[in-house]
Amino acid sequence: MKTQVLTAGLVLAACGLAANHTRAVLQPGTLAEPWMTGGPNCLTIPDWQVHEYNEDFYILRESGCINAEKPFLYLMFGENKALLEDTGVASAADKSVIPTAPVIMDLMAKWAARKKHAPVSLIVIHSHSHGDHTAADGQFNQTPGVQFVAATPAEIQKAAGIATWPTGLGQIDLGNRIVDVIPIPGHDVASIALYDRVTGNLMTGDSLYPGRLYVPEAQIPTYAASAQRMVDFVRLHPVAHVLGTHIEEGSQPYFDYPQGTTYQPKEHVLELSRAHVFELAEAFRKMGGKPIRMVYPDFAVVPRVANAPRPAIMQAGDGMGLQPGELPTGWKTGGPNCVTIPSWQVKEYNEDFYILRESGCINPEKPFLFLMFGDKKALLEDTGVATLMPDGSRGAVIPTAPVIMDLMAKWAARKKHAPVSLVVIHSHSHSDHTAGDEQLKALPNVEFIDSKPEAIQKAVGISKWPTDTGHIDLGGRIVDVIPIPGHDVASIALYDRLTGNLLTGDSLYPGLLSINSKDLAAYAVSAQRLADFVGEHPVAHVLGTHVEQNKLPYVDYGRGTIYQADEAPLELTRAHIFELNDAFISLHGEYKSVATPDFTLVTRESGETAYPPELRPKPKAN
Ligand SMILES: [Zn+2]
Ligand SMILES: [Zn+2]
Ligand SMILES: [Zn+2]
Repeated sequence: MKTQVLTAGLVLAACGLAANHTRAVLQPGTLAEPWMTGGPNCLTIPDWQVHEYNEDFYILRESGCINAEKPFLYLMFGENKALLEDTGVASAADKSVIPTAPVIMDLMAKWAARKKHAPVSLIVIHSHSHGDHTAADGQFNQTPGVQFVAATPAEIQKAAGIATWPTGLGQIDLGNRIVDVIPIPGHDVASIALYDRVTGNLMTGDSLYPGRLYVPEAQIPTYAASAQRMVDFVRLHPVAHVLGTHIEEGSQPYFDYPQGTTYQPKEHVLELSRAHVFELAEAFRKMGGKPIRMVYPDFAVVPRVANAPRPAIMQAGDGMGLQPGELPTGWKTGGPNCVTIPSWQVKEYNEDFYILRESGCINPEKPFLFLMFGDKKALLEDTGVATLMPDGSRGAVIPTAPVIMDLMAKWAARKKHAPVSLVVIHSHSHSDHTAGDEQLKALPNVEFIDSKPEAIQKAVGISKWPTDTGHIDLGGRIVDVIPIPGHDVASIALYDRLTGNLLTGDSLYPGLLSINSKDLAAYAVSAQRLADFVGEHPVAHVLGTHVEQNKLPYVDYGRGTIYQADEAPLELTRAHIFELNDAFISLHGEYKSVATPDFTLVTRESGETAYPPELRPKPKAN
């Protein structure tokens, strides 16, 4: 079983906490957030920002005041050698090249001094051959003691021992640190990805980063094949982060800063996740070899006719017309001191969309609820969980209805809007999402939809369960209802067309997605249906109903943890739908756990999803 964990990495046998096994082999690190771009005042922006991911892995960024490309470089250390990916960009103003070599040499000297380690030699390699990644090559290729790998397939093949380009894999041994080299031509003939086995970081160059992924029209099939090879690779290797060489995306989904923007005050984070590799492959599948621009929340694929003049303004996405919102941060869990944790936290995504969380001090499930407003009705998803008693039984239900009523009254007052009526629906029927049902049912003017397929079907007009979708019209706001049985027979996803938020309940959230053996097939079909749905609709964020994941990839808190000091954010992305779908595809009908960086599919019978015995609620837990 242990061998399986180490070799397969991601498909784990059903024992212990699956996700944490994988993480144990990856050296952790931190990412800079946010980076400086290029302004507003260039006097205060250093030519190079150097960020320590951990003591043997560094990320550098060249200033946007030098060139709007502001590329990222990577430097990692083994026992014998250091590996540098890329050398930088020339000044946009006068084509001069800012010194890169002295910065790298300085870092290498500091590394050796700090680690009390003999100096190591340097290998220079490139994500690809474009000028914004190779401008300072001349500072390295004549330096004694530096192994310089030119950005050509032949040179890379030779240096990394790649038998066949581009289908073979190569590697570079830095001494106790092996870096895999994956040819991924498409953006450029010499494009590669680097996979650092120590941290699990996958460096994807210009082939996958938060921005516009340019592809020459003639290279679309080549790029598509490379994307698929990356999928094959990440299926077998744990991936902590996907790190590219630019950021052009803003923090708002489907929005990128126009080409040539130096100052990007609300820039996307550098890192993408393993899930985005699946989303990239999906983009090329959808393109079907044709030069169609694909605009996604975190990147865009932009086909380009070779040698055609560039448009004056190049921007792939301007937000898709989705109503913006701010994802709440700083959710409390349950402790360390329960006296200071409110029973309900209420946070605003925007003035018509609210997210609530019940305290972990009431029940370690600490579920999330969603409330959104139309002109005529408000829609509430889920009603909360009962208090978990020390003997494991279910105790009182903390008032949910008064909190909702209060919010609805405040909304009407703030908007100077007539009061609206309430529709209550559920992500699914488990007791940690339905405990407050009686309170809501008892209110006047409530349309209460039982968490049963027939009741949902009737209320939202689903002609055929589970293959058709229904919708709820709140007045100027339509919410689609997508049956996704699997986790539960009555599981649904809700898609809010205004914000583009997709609410996925317990079927997809950052944590342990539990599944019974008899429901595996249904869940797999639902994952495919969700993937089909998001292929046709813009998805701002994927919001589930729990968080059990730690900020570190592949680490979760297990079931029944009350206080989660470093929990992951609530939101997942559209890309995670494809990662979920791929997890089921990879299972081929086999019933076993699958760990990904941000969620884990766990077999319920394995006991992984059960509380520790002293905390086990009766008679039925989620
Ligand atoms: Zn580039
Ligand atoms: Zn649940
Ligand atoms: Zn559940």
